[in-house]
Amino acid sequence: MPPVDITHHLHLVRTHILNVAREYQRDLSHIQLLAVSKTQPISAIETAVASGQKDFGENYLQDALEKITALQGRGLQWHFIGAIQSNKTRALAEHFDWVETLASLKHAKRLNEQRPEQLPPLNVCLQVNISAEPQKAGIEASHTLDLAQEILSLPRLRLRGLMSIPAPSTTFEQQRLPHRALAQLLQHLQAQGVDVDTLSMGMSGDLTAAIAEGSTQVRIGTAIFGARLK
Ligand SMILES: *Cc1c(COP(=O)(O)O)cnc(C)c1O
Repeated sequence: MPPVDITHHLHLVRTHILNVAREYQRDLSHIQLLAVSKTQPISAIETAVASGQKDFGENYLQDALEKITALQGRGLQWHFIGAIQSNKTRALAEHFDWVETLASLKHAKRLNEQRPEQLPPLNVCLQVNISAEPQKAGIEASHTLDLAQEILSLPRLRLRGLMSIPAPSTTFEQQRLPHRALAQLLQHLQAQGVDVDTLSMGMSGDLTAAIAEGSTQVRIGTAIFGARLK
């Protein structure tokens, strides 16, 4: 296979986001592109950085720490989007700008205690199991408000919003449903006085549906680094 033209793919993804934002009357400045660079080499990330990409999502802590160290001083923002293990929270608290897969008070308390004083509060999103799939990561939608309120009392965390990975579905209309449910859950939190602004939803295969339903952060991996934009 020929090497992927990351610069070109990044351009295609940005253009796609622009067009979808127009179509659904979304303010482009409220849609952030998170480049999911898991399993990608540092050189691939550097190519994306050269095209102006600043936010990167990583799933595997050890890999991520190497990249974060190698690319220090470039003003990048690192988002952890993988499974959190209790014995790894310190490294997350010390090296990441965001943790988007928070789903327990226990992990929240550890991250709060371990966030270094000299860094700003850690941005966090609650991961919601929005399609209510058994054995899937994330909290139940009905527990979101309780956990959100507990996190508000942790000064070293800054609760930003909600994140989800819905069950795959094929049609556009079906793809919209879980995104709509997450958006309504965020509105519910806001109505209860919780100050949140982030809806992290939409991946390469469903970013159009996610933006249509109000996503403020799409997490795109293969469409930038690997496969063709769907
Ligand atoms: C891998 C991953 C993505 C990116 O998925 P693509 O389909 O490659 O765009 C987004 N979010 C999470 C949590 C992931 O693990």
